[in-house]
Amino acid sequence: MAYTYLSHLYCPRCENRYSANELYNLCSCGSPLLVAYHLEKAKKEWHYEQLHKRLPSLWRYHEMLPVTDPENVISFGEGMTPLIDMRAIGDHYDISYLQMKDEGLVPTGSFKARGAAVGVSKAKELGVEAIAMPTNGNAGAAWSLYASRAGIDAHIVMPKSAPPITHKECQIGGARVYIVDGLISDAGRMVAKAAHKYGWFDASTLKEPYRIEGKKTMGYEIAEQLNWQLPDAIVYPTGGGVGLIGIYKSLQELRGLGWIEEDQAFPRLVAVQAENCAPIVKAYDEGNKESEFWPDSETVAFGINVPKALGDFLVLEAIEQTNGCAVAISDDEILKEQERVADLEGAFICPEGAATLSAVQQLREEKWLARDDHVICLNTGLGLKYPETVETPHTVLAPDYEI
Ligand SMILES: *Cc1c(COP(=O)(O)O)cnc(C)c1O
Ligand SMILES: [Zn+2]
Repeated sequence: MAYTYLSHLYCPRCENRYSANELYNLCSCGSPLLVAYHLEKAKKEWHYEQLHKRLPSLWRYHEMLPVTDPENVISFGEGMTPLIDMRAIGDHYDISYLQMKDEGLVPTGSFKARGAAVGVSKAKELGVEAIAMPTNGNAGAAWSLYASRAGIDAHIVMPKSAPPITHKECQIGGARVYIVDGLISDAGRMVAKAAHKYGWFDASTLKEPYRIEGKKTMGYEIAEQLNWQLPDAIVYPTGGGVGLIGIYKSLQELRGLGWIEEDQAFPRLVAVQAENCAPIVKAYDEGNKESEFWPDSETVAFGINVPKALGDFLVLEAIEQTNGCAVAISDDEILKEQERVADLEGAFICPEGAATLSAVQQLREEKWLARDDHVICLNTGLGLKYPETVETPHTVLAPDYEI
């Protein structure tokens, strides 16, 4: 049996095809490229029973991942994160079956490691020696460390507002870090120029086809963890939208593999953004197929501070095809929610993850979600990476002070 059923790359916009054995960024039409597999063949030869004896990492789905030689796999054991029951919050919001998939447990503290694991492994397989990428922090951290393990040089450009911990993660991994007085979109322009000038591989979000493959494994895991039954809704904090595009892709592949029933409805996919950076929500509300650049974006949930996503049309399509929706949450609400989740559930989640729970409250109030819907929220990172979101006023006591 094959290690992978990888077939080729294709453009979801103009349907051009490309070889998966050569390095590509975007399609000549400017669209991101997606990875295709020999699904018919895989359906005949590969069954989920075979997963049982595999390790609990995303590589358990290697048949539907793009790496052809297992020697090239760069892994820290990422994946198979738990689905955690959120009974207290569920009661609070009148949802009977609310779960959180906790990506804070992934190496480097955010689900960006999924994209990095697969993206870096494939870059290594294709002979890449140096990558460059813009980042709001978490992606740079993950790609730096995985690249370090792969022996690939990394050039990371981040806004000066990115969390200091992510700068440190890049630094200790040996990446060359460039701090810019601007936004991720400015960093992106700088990367594009430098990559061209020095021959570095531009690994910007969706400018390389393979990080989606890493992130789609969240969808495989949710289906496997629920014994190939699907929830009613998946709520996802959306920046570049890679995770949402990936989860939608995984659902289509699972149907193609026959691992979920043909007539089983897909979960409604919900994109959650921050009120001061909500281009996808605006496009959804206006019924547009693409988003517009969101000027002067700002949010504490820096992982979703993306004013214009390259794959916006794919995100909007995934929402439409699953009867999902898009919701914006204020920073104030996000921070309150983060506190509420720690208070009621004991989980210190990241602001992006908190936004999804806040969205659940809103959607339940609007009756978009029903009481007995099975809802899964994605907590995409560790609260520990954002220590500044919690204030700890205190006085220092003399040692002889009696409490
Ligand atoms: C990058 C990031 C997101 C957004 O991910 P996309 O898949 O690009 O939309 C959400 N949360 C955190 C913590 C992130 O780092
Ligand atoms: Zn194209």
